[in-house]
Amino acid sequence: MNGFRPGDPHLSEPAELYGEASEALPRELPKTVDVLIVGSGPAGLTLAAQLAAFPEIETLVVESRPGPLLLGQADGIACRTVEMFEAFGFSERVLKEAYWVNEVSFWKPDGTTPEKIVRHGRIQDTEDGLSEFPHVILNQARVHDFYLDVMRNSPTRMAPYYGLRLVDLTIAHEGPAKAHAFPVTARLERLDGEQAGRIETIEARFVVGCDGARSAVRQSLGRVLHGDSANQAWGVMDVLAVTDFPDIRLKATIHSAAEGSVLIIPREGGYLVRFYIELEKLNANERVSNRNVTVDRLIAAAQRILRPYTLEVKEVAWWSVYEIGQRLADRFDDLADEGAGDGFPRVFITGDACHTHSPKAGQGMNVSMQDSFNLGWKLAAVLTGRSAPKLLHTYSSERRAIAEELIEFDREFARMFSAKPGSASASDREVVDPVEFKNYFIRQGRFTAGTATRYRPSIITAEPAHQQLAAGFPIGMRFHSASIIRLADARPMELGHTVKADGRWRLFAFAADEDPADPSSGIGAFCWFLSTSDKSPVRRYTPAGADIDSVIDVRAIFQQPHRDLALEAMPSLLLPRKGPYGLIDYEKLFCADRTSGSDIFDLRGIDRERGCLVVVRPDQYVAHILPLDAYAALADFFAGFMVPAW
Ligand code: FAD
Repeated sequence: MNGFRPGDPHLSEPAELYGEASEALPRELPKTVDVLIVGSGPAGLTLAAQLAAFPEIETLVVESRPGPLLLGQADGIACRTVEMFEAFGFSERVLKEAYWVNEVSFWKPDGTTPEKIVRHGRIQDTEDGLSEFPHVILNQARVHDFYLDVMRNSPTRMAPYYGLRLVDLTIAHEGPAKAHAFPVTARLERLDGEQAGRIETIEARFVVGCDGARSAVRQSLGRVLHGDSANQAWGVMDVLAVTDFPDIRLKATIHSAAEGSVLIIPREGGYLVRFYIELEKLNANERVSNRNVTVDRLIAAAQRILRPYTLEVKEVAWWSVYEIGQRLADRFDDLADEGAGDGFPRVFITGDACHTHSPKAGQGMNVSMQDSFNLGWKLAAVLTGRSAPKLLHTYSSERRAIAEELIEFDREFARMFSAKPGSASASDREVVDPVEFKNYFIRQGRFTAGTATRYRPSIITAEPAHQQLAAGFPIGMRFHSASIIRLADARPMELGHTVKADGRWRLFAFAADEDPADPSSGIGAFCWFLSTSDKSPVRRYTPAGADIDSVIDVRAIFQQPHRDLALEAMPSLLLPRKGPYGLIDYEKLFCADRTSGSDIFDLRGIDRERGCLVVVRPDQYVAHILPLDAYAALADFFAGFMVPAW
């Protein structure tokens, strides 16, 4: 679009202000930044990768570790997370490297010889049609690598500063300092080499604490995690082992009669396997490190639980013990309460910094990344002047509600996992019927896949007044992709994959059953409104000189077979001219895929007679469903949080 350039298409042109960053190079620390991200775990890197797409925003990532993570920690990647990875452009790499969780098996004590375990069920992991992507397993460190590549290849050539620990933050809440452009002051301690111990000070417009369960940002805000004080200790080990346990390449949950429970997670590469072994409950505020648990103890526990099968561990690639409580912060930002005057948040916490739970349902990394995906586009929209700062209130309200649901789910799931197998009466919480455990697992499948998230109505999520026009795109839930055919080149593809992590809004206009070339058709009139009216959100919010789709990206989907439509007769808004040469973008027009039995109009319950408009947020959630001619309602919706460009 901007002129021909050979080489790796993933590598963006560097923005003028930024040189080639490298973790190996000593870089000067800036005195002020727009966004300071503390921590480079999954939450911090998701946010950094999102903000890296905006060269006009100066973002700094600091990390206390000396370099990138190499081993261990979380590994479960839910379907919804792979959908998000697609938006960042690395889903294929994940799918290629990862273990795919296709089925799950359930084991319990044998009825006649309870000291032996037997299989009592084997189910499909993810229900058909839930997502175009599978549930996969891949080391957290590799997920970090992919994000670091996105950052490195971005226009800002972003890389974390390692060996820098946040000591504390101060926020100017009152007086002239509050009006200062950079009201948050961070003190950071250098942990590296000769400069170790030196304190650096940075001022920031916004700070995001992605610094894990012991978050210094959270502590600076005076927030605490509330929840179960009786912490649970866990052992986890990644091993190369020889075993006659037949389900070693399936995700398997095993309840033994008297030796406890394990969760087996096969790992990428074909040989490695992870065992989660539940250890004892800890006293309030006790650290598991005090218990001197050894890897030999973990191996011995796994061997006892697996009886009559044998387990011979040849190599331990990584192991850890860690403590977990189901805990949640009151708010995920620095505001005192919801209606905090005309102020808006300046400091946020995401991921483990604001919620912790057990690893059994594999949610830690996923929910943490989704927190940041929710926040990233909002920060970018406010910092680039596209949206009013009140947009930032929605982060804490949206994500805290999701974390609350997660903790409720995890509490029940964890109870069932830890309870002794038997036939449970409702009053006996210490015993679980293995069949009930299996059924609970199936029932909660959408939740663990990450596709059950539903944001409540707010300034960016409309009340469902016209939901019946597209019953399969519930407002507040993620835009559920389906296959379509691109008109210009007849390419079969996924419609959801047009939603990239670039901070843009999408308008998907599903045409009624009529000729779209007719200017009086619903689509024709809609495009005319968007191109010409002063009330058009596309015109109001796109800065002069910017490409017409740079803030709101309009795409249309037709019911006709693709060969029946004339590309040249389509509304010009759907064939926009872009970039310095005014080249035509041919990728806005799609047709239902009628041959494969996966017609998107049928799959998502779209009204064929009336068509409809589906408004999709930059983080892939459905914000609104409207009739194609609801121009005023569309304009009002965007006016609720956007700032006109002129
Ligand atoms: P984290 O991944 O914890 O990232 C926080 C980052 O912030 C870290 O890189 C940390 O070094 C950095 N940091 C912290 N304080 C500061 C500071 N003051 N200044 C600068 N940087 C700072 N989940 C599972 O599902 N399965 C597992 O087996 C599993 N094992 C785990 C083992 C360990 C040892 C830990 C710590 C966590 C484990 N988890 C596991 C949890 C899972 O890794 C987290 O849920 C997930 O990583 C959350 O992502 P996050 O980005 O919010 O936090």
